[in-house]
Amino acid sequence: MILGVDIGGTNTDVVLLEDDVFEVLGSFKTKEFDLSKIKVDYDVLGVGIAVWFKNGKLVGAPNLERIPSLETEKPKVVDNDANCFAYFSSYLTKKKNVLSLTVGTGIGTGIVIEGRVYRGDGLAGELGHTFVGGRRKCKCGGYGHLEAYFGGWAIKDIKEKLENGSIYDTRGFRLFCIAVSNAIMLLNPEVVTFGGRIGGRLSEEILTEEISKLIPEVFKPEFRVVKDDYAVAKGASLLARDSIRK
Ligand SMILES: [Zn+2]
Repeated sequence: MILGVDIGGTNTDVVLLEDDVFEVLGSFKTKEFDLSKIKVDYDVLGVGIAVWFKNGKLVGAPNLERIPSLETEKPKVVDNDANCFAYFSSYLTKKKNVLSLTVGTGIGTGIVIEGRVYRGDGLAGELGHTFVGGRRKCKCGGYGHLEAYFGGWAIKDIKEKLENGSIYDTRGFRLFCIAVSNAIMLLNPEVVTFGGRIGGRLSEEILTEEISKLIPEVFKPEFRVVKDDYAVAKGASLLARDSIRK
């Protein structure tokens, strides 16, 4: 059995994977979460966490005030949360070339190429921290980054805007579509998935329409909104399972 944990800026979600079946164990406040609170048996731990890793070392955590303790004697696989989401997206869509965006507190980007998570020199996939114009300050210390316009921390009255549809009229959404279209031209993915507590609540139809306007027809991938708050935790458990198998 594999325990999958998703440590996000606000919530920490936990699932258990056994024989290809996921069991949701619950969602906790990241501020209060510790692994010792999870009273289940497991053999391997998979963790997706909203931080930047390079060669296994933590090099930045713009959206985490507190990193929960992950002390365990069990084998452990820890990866960036967006990489876990992309890996789950590949599993879900059965596609090997996937671009994935998680929009929650921050904006994460995961890339799967030929069925494997692409990491570059360790930090590949950070569309949220690419420059899109302006001088708005980002949590990473930079200016004019996409996340400073469309990350959950940057959008006022996000819940209301999602409910009444006015999110699609914002500059942030427009910039998000542009950034995603640029990434599509770079990677030519078969499918682009969107997840996270904001991304998973966006309209698949509007995303498809708006992003498609920005790219040539022959590059058009499939667009899919993954409405599953546990997608990262599930991806973390799948990544842990497949890394241990190898
Ligand atoms: Zn930034």
